[in-house]
Amino acid sequence: MRHYLVVGNWKMHGSKASAHALIEEFKQHLSAVETQCEIVVCPPTILIPPVAGMLSDSAISWGAQNTHEQREGAYTGEVSAWMLADNGCRYVIIGHSERRCIYAETDRLITAKFVAAQQASVTPILCLGESLAQREAGRTLDCIDQQLNAVVDVVGIKALENAVLAYEPIWAIGTGKTASPQQAQQVHAHIRQVVAKADSGVADKLRILYGGSVNAANASSLFAQNDIDGALVGGASLKAQDFFQICQAACLAEVEMQ
Ligand code: PEP
Repeated sequence: MRHYLVVGNWKMHGSKASAHALIEEFKQHLSAVETQCEIVVCPPTILIPPVAGMLSDSAISWGAQNTHEQREGAYTGEVSAWMLADNGCRYVIIGHSERRCIYAETDRLITAKFVAAQQASVTPILCLGESLAQREAGRTLDCIDQQLNAVVDVVGIKALENAVLAYEPIWAIGTGKTASPQQAQQVHAHIRQVVAKADSGVADKLRILYGGSVNAANASSLFAQNDIDGALVGGASLKAQDFFQICQAACLAEVEMQ
């Protein structure tokens, strides 16, 4: 059985004070219920050390939104996966569409970051997703295959044993337009089939998150789909009550699966 995972991507939001208030409120909500699912928050890099301190007495893990592909060196302004590991990060988001589109990250660079994360024992959360134009042109699955194969062709299928995938249609990120549960399930099932063709054991255990305007109202119907194993949450992860409700929906989905 796959364990549900909910990851909050704070993007470039927050301060030490707002992070503290958000986490305290979230922990208070969480203390009232039995949690089954795994919860991770990914703050901006500079907030990782204080957030780590705030979460050290909890079951919530923390991660990062990006990494450099080298271990160390003359790379002004960059942070390596080994530095993330040194600060207790268990996960790092790789290939987010904002990095692909705004910072022109290529599949080659994303693969190098994926490799670096695993070498540093930080689990990569590899994001895959099509643009609106690609969806409208009927090229969604081709786009996903190309992004996934670019990494798997280099690292090998077994590398997915220590990774998480996130299907994030670009047109649904931060727009309030969520993929319908059926649209999301179709892509998730396709991803799992592609992986299963290479290794069915890896495919069965692989967690595939959905991301794109997930909120308290739509989380349950997404989590009820067979191949959706949790969520990568942007905007709603900055509101304690909303993020809690999404986590609770994942916990309930996990209980129902048992
Ligand atoms: C994201 O940033 O990965 C994301 C899915 O954002 P939002 O939930 O705001 O659409």
